[in-house]
Amino acid sequence: MNKEQEFKKLKQKVSAYIDKNVVYELDKAWEFTCLAHFGQKRRSGEDYCMHPLRVALILSEWQLDLETIIAGLLHDTIEDGGVKREELVQLFGGRIAFLVDGVTKVSEIRLAKSSEERFVENLRKMFIFMAKDVRVVLVKLADRLHNMRTLSALPHEKQIRISRETLEVYSPLAERVGMDNAKGELDDLCFPYLYPKEYKRIKKISEKYYKKADKLMLSIHDKIVRRLKQEGLSAQVYSRKKRLYSLWKKMERREINWDPDKVFDILAFRVLVSKTSDCYVALGLVHHLYKPLRQLGITDYIAMPKDNGYQSIHTKLVSKEGQIFEVQIRTFDMHAHAENGIAAHWAYSSQKEKAKSSEKLDSSVSKVDAKNLTWLKQLVEWQNEIKDSKEYLEAVKLDALKERNFIFSPKGDVFDLPQGATAVDFAYAVHTELPCYMRAALADGKIVPLNYELKSGETVEILKNKVKHKPKREWLEFVVTTAARQHIKKELRKDI
Ligand code: MN
Repeated sequence: MNKEQEFKKLKQKVSAYIDKNVVYELDKAWEFTCLAHFGQKRRSGEDYCMHPLRVALILSEWQLDLETIIAGLLHDTIEDGGVKREELVQLFGGRIAFLVDGVTKVSEIRLAKSSEERFVENLRKMFIFMAKDVRVVLVKLADRLHNMRTLSALPHEKQIRISRETLEVYSPLAERVGMDNAKGELDDLCFPYLYPKEYKRIKKISEKYYKKADKLMLSIHDKIVRRLKQEGLSAQVYSRKKRLYSLWKKMERREINWDPDKVFDILAFRVLVSKTSDCYVALGLVHHLYKPLRQLGITDYIAMPKDNGYQSIHTKLVSKEGQIFEVQIRTFDMHAHAENGIAAHWAYSSQKEKAKSSEKLDSSVSKVDAKNLTWLKQLVEWQNEIKDSKEYLEAVKLDALKERNFIFSPKGDVFDLPQGATAVDFAYAVHTELPCYMRAALADGKIVPLNYELKSGETVEILKNKVKHKPKREWLEFVVTTAARQHIKKELRKDI
């Protein structure tokens, strides 16, 4: 399929759930992206703009709002297309520019180069920064998903590095925001690159079981559908086989000990109904059809949702042929959240908020914050798991969050500076010698005075002189960090 046909497909997908009168806005973004990436090719030999297009397609599958889709189309224009943020503001407005900028900043964080301690620290900061607008996370996840799907075109070393980063950062992130589908796919895409031997072993072992499951899948499916229909319950029934990476993880568990006969959810069915009460009716009917395995029990995540909000009833059953399988019962609403997590939440609430969409950037950001309080809570929990630190938990209390000031270096390191910190404070935070060579400072690429108050999320670059000079006395009038103040005083005392 050529790129124009593919773009048509995107428009069709978006028109299915967004007002047709605004879908034309995609044209401008698409043209702009094609121009920005003109002449660039991906490793696979494809035109570069196919990548943002496919990212936008993934976002449309998650049914996200138009701004996010447009941000998906534009997401690499700053980083790889040489476009300036201001250009995006002019052409597409502050909100879309904010999203693209957020994605660019997140990509610039060189996690791989950080030392281990730095890594965890930077990771935390990155996610707080991202949490300012959760859509940045969604675009980034779609971006990573497409990069992983096309990983085979890259040299081996890069495949390993990117896969590791995906497994360590993006897949847990997808899980945390409840995007099971994206998480499962990311895991499976990494698996053969990172653990080729284990991948081959699992693939071989699973073949027999998957074949058996394939055979039974249709007949069990039909039986469940017929039974629910008989009782007048309108439902949709889907079946799935366990993903390979998740099967491997399960096989490694001590109680399973590589015995596939002990894995009871290789084959699973999903029953989707309209109302919560219908879930329990369906459970009764399914138990009437197939014998539940008493020793494995029923788990009612509707009554007791998981930490990430997941709701469903899980029950394990056995077929006449002795095949054990799982049935998950939930409402359509619960399903949307289980599959697409925070994206489903966003898609849903963005429709309600459509009318207010002309509001300014700032108010929209705070609105997103309030809406995603639970998501922020999840982040806190997750980061707590990575490394327990009371200080950190203090820092992410929502009130405190507003006062944080994260400044990025061009290399992607993140500095946590107090409110009112200036370019000079930043230079001292980077290295105590740096201010002695300081000639000028750039904030997001623009020259700023040395007493410029940095804003959270800005990337600051210090331009250097060749020769060392003394710090200036007047710096003391505007620096706010103790470190900067002490160093300046110390240097000045040497004069006397
Ligand atoms: Mn990209």
